[in-house]
Amino acid sequence: NRSYLIGGNWKCNTTTSSALSLVSTLNSSGPIPTNCTVVVGVPYPYLSLVRSSLRSDIELAAQDCAHSSKMGAFTGEVNVEQLKDVGCTWVILGHSERRTGFGGDAGETSDLIAGKTLTAVGAGLKVMLCVGETLEERESGKTLAVVKSQLDPVVKVLKASDWGSVAIAYEPVWAIGTGKTATPEMAQETHAEIRSYISTVLGSAVAAKIQIQYGGSMKAANCKALLAQPDIDGGLIGGASLKPEFADVFRGMM
Ligand code: 13P
Repeated sequence: NRSYLIGGNWKCNTTTSSALSLVSTLNSSGPIPTNCTVVVGVPYPYLSLVRSSLRSDIELAAQDCAHSSKMGAFTGEVNVEQLKDVGCTWVILGHSERRTGFGGDAGETSDLIAGKTLTAVGAGLKVMLCVGETLEERESGKTLAVVKSQLDPVVKVLKASDWGSVAIAYEPVWAIGTGKTATPEMAQETHAEIRSYISTVLGSAVAAKIQIQYGGSMKAANCKALLAQPDIDGGLIGGASLKPEFADVFRGMM
């Protein structure tokens, strides 16, 4: 009886005009099923624009936030108060692309991500917390160990009641942007292991309630089989969220 959480992660895509065109597609995509929350993760420069033009029943996420909620001399950072000010209710944290680092940036550690999660939840934002293993880690049987090592620092810093504001996005790195989706059975197996781990460390009530989204080449054509699995409570969708078919994912849940 958990509801579905369908997130679109636009990543570092869109311009003013392509963002407005995605908004217009979403605005005319019909009713959102009552058992679904739909959220779009938008690049910082377009958050305000998207919030002011997007239908009010689709929520807004940022794709990262500063570790500190303070205003001040933190060049280049965007904090949770600023995100709330422009209408975000969610933030995506710990995406594998941020963990790995790119373009010469250092990657984010699980401890940093845990700190950001605490800051975001403390400010009243909801968090899509991304975890997931690389191909090499899966092939050497380390999937659960990796996911636990990514969740543990967050378990340490959050209060049990904070978990009501967190969804876990399980995104196997090898399935992101590759067209290789985990099979529904493979994803279900890991989702069930994650839920069982959450039950062990946080208790069965938190485990029963927490939404676990799947991410990695999810699209209209494969979402039904994934979302039909008992422990898959939604999706975090990259490439397909930049296309009109994103609406087919949540419309399919009616
Ligand atoms: P793709 O859907 O493009 O594989 O990206 C998944 C993802 O990383 C969502 O956060």
